Amino acid sequence: ILKKHMSDISREKSAELFEKAKNYFPGGVNSPVRAFKSVYGTPLFIERGDKAHLWDADGNEFIDFCCSWGPLILGHNNPQIREAVAEQLYKGLSFGAPTRLENELADLILSNNTYIEKLRFVSSGTEAVMSAIRLARGYTKRDKIVKFEGCYHGHSDSLLVKAGSGLVTFGETSSAGVPKAFADETIVIALNDKEALTEVFSRFKDQIAAVIIEGIPANNGLLLQDKDYMHYLRAITQEQGSLLILDEVITGFRLGFQGAAHYYGIRPDILTYGKIIGGGMPVGAYGASKEIMAHISPDGGVYQAGTLSGNPVAMAAGIAALSILNQPDFYQKLEQTTQDFVNTLRAYIEEHQYEVKIFTVGSIFWFAFTTAESIKRADEIDPASMEKYKIMHRELLNRGIYFGPSGYEVGFISAAHSTEDLQKTIQALKEALDVVFQ
Ligand code: PLP
Repeated sequence: ILKKHMSDISREKSAELFEKAKNYFPGGVNSPVRAFKSVYGTPLFIERGDKAHLWDADGNEFIDFCCSWGPLILGHNNPQIREAVAEQLYKGLSFGAPTRLENELADLILSNNTYIEKLRFVSSGTEAVMSAIRLARGYTKRDKIVKFEGCYHGHSDSLLVKAGSGLVTFGETSSAGVPKAFADETIVIALNDKEALTEVFSRFKDQIAAVIIEGIPANNGLLLQDKDYMHYLRAITQEQGSLLILDEVITGFRLGFQGAAHYYGIRPDILTYGKIIGGGMPVGAYGASKEIMAHISPDGGVYQAGTLSGNPVAMAAGIAALSILNQPDFYQKLEQTTQDFVNTLRAYIEEHQYEVKIFTVGSIFWFAFTTAESIKRADEIDPASMEKYKIMHRELLNRGIYFGPSGYEVGFISAAHSTEDLQKTIQALKEALDVVFQ
């Protein structure tokens, strides 16, 4: 029997809005991967979200596994976050002066994280990482940085060098507009490769300010690193007088308050945060020991500032979100839910011998159309396998399930996903996989 693919949902209103948006924005969007270039159809314009559900302009309802690309670990329209934001709205949107709320959010973070002693709030993950790089350069008085192929750290010049995320999705390896001189200061090596790391430090001895890596690389598939490798990375950076920057923009507060640093059992020098830390509002942060942070202006000579940094509304959202996440067993429960979801699907995949793997950590999952038992490096992903993701994505949308519009992107489970939501999703995924592999 030929497995039937479902007929496409109505997308008339979204299509109309997209046509209009193309007059206003490059590609009709304000962030490239939203343009649906790597999947079928055009972007869905979202009207509203509640718990794990999204509604688009045509009135279609979806169970959401993109979760705004990670921040919505509590789902949409969480009542505590909403009320905290509403309360602050009446007091003022921005003052450009310190508020009690910044202290409160910082205290919540620092008293539950043994890796950093001081932090600075910014307004995005990009800003957090960009500032962390400047801090590392200012602190070590060295210029070069090392990053990994397949890691995305936002769109600052130093880091748009063979980056992942949207860039890989579009099949590019770097961005126009980044001066060669900048790119020359960034060395890109493969993940999970001790030899490459050893080589880079012998070739560029005393020149490397920092090595930056994603907590768990999750912008180009989910590339789980060997623990042993991460310990080697920590040891060699320390030995060579370079800082280790762990970019926890995705993993921060997703794998618990201590993030991937705790997961691996390593102590990085600088940590960067974004996404979840703002409860859905634009917040980022970077933090380190008191000694390293003393180099930041106005205490030290590394300049970094922001008109809307520590914005009171965003702080209120962050405090409300992290207060919920800080409750006992929050992460254990979410991880258990994710494990059960993944295991049910793995059993189905095994039974049908489909050539797809689900890699997972915490409440993050990634469908890899591969026969490999593990994928740890960007070049181990076969770009041709993305065709299968495309089919799966369409079948899922037509069954009311919203996955990120690229096979390189991971999925997120939130505390708002109910048992019923996950059961419905499992059924839809089984059917979608049947179509992919028919
Ligand atoms: N670092 C990582 C690991 C990310 O995943 C991202 C965004 O996806 C960023 C940095 C950049 O964050 P933002 O998009 O908030 O600028």
